[in-house]
Amino acid sequence: MKERKPRIGVVLSENPVILEGKYIINSPYIKAISRAGGIPLLLPAGASMDGVLDFAELIDGLLVPGGQDVSPLLYGENPAPSVGYTLADTDRTEIALVREASKRGIPVFGICRGMQLINVAFGGTLIQDIPSEVPGAICHRQNMAVRSELTHEASIKENSLLSEILGAGSMAVNSFHHQAVKEAATEFSVTAHSADGIAEGMESGDRRIFAVQWHPEELIDRYPVFLRLFEYLIKLAGKGGS
Ligand code: MN
Repeated sequence: MKERKPRIGVVLSENPVILEGKYIINSPYIKAISRAGGIPLLLPAGASMDGVLDFAELIDGLLVPGGQDVSPLLYGENPAPSVGYTLADTDRTEIALVREASKRGIPVFGICRGMQLINVAFGGTLIQDIPSEVPGAICHRQNMAVRSELTHEASIKENSLLSEILGAGSMAVNSFHHQAVKEAATEFSVTAHSADGIAEGMESGDRRIFAVQWHPEELIDRYPVFLRLFEYLIKLAGKGGS
């Protein structure tokens, strides 16, 4: 057991079109890490491979947050008309860091885009736009609702890591995405689904990388059960590499 609190890395995006001269991160991710007992360590996007290796030296765990769409070029596709803005520099930094973390046994937790990015990092593919690609899909974009509103159900598989953390069966979650995991990379199992079959949770065979498609960081004040996801990451991070 390490003496100090585990350090959890989070990559910051940069988009001069939206916010010139600033890095972008939603504060609820940072607060959730702190509340769960970790030290948030903010890492700028655009790092070279050397920079990514330096980051990997510093962190005990990695949180891959939500955000913009993953560049479809990174999984061998051109963008559908409905794809929003992409930030390839952020994608590349996060993909390199996820792979390096995996190599070193550093645990990784992905949220929303983070789940999608982790899948792409290991060779999986994405649904680029749920409404236009999935007939009968439910609403996954509660854009006008408050961030902590629970809007659809997710069914969590029995005997999965997610069921150990949150319990198996159905639970209501929030939803702010139009993309999703399509084919999961071979290292991963999809362990939570919404009623329309969209992947809502995923985990690696060794249970050191796990992800959800909803936003638990926005729910912890109203529904403290979701803090367990962050606590689990920090518990793994505190044990060091496997
Ligand atoms: Mn959803």
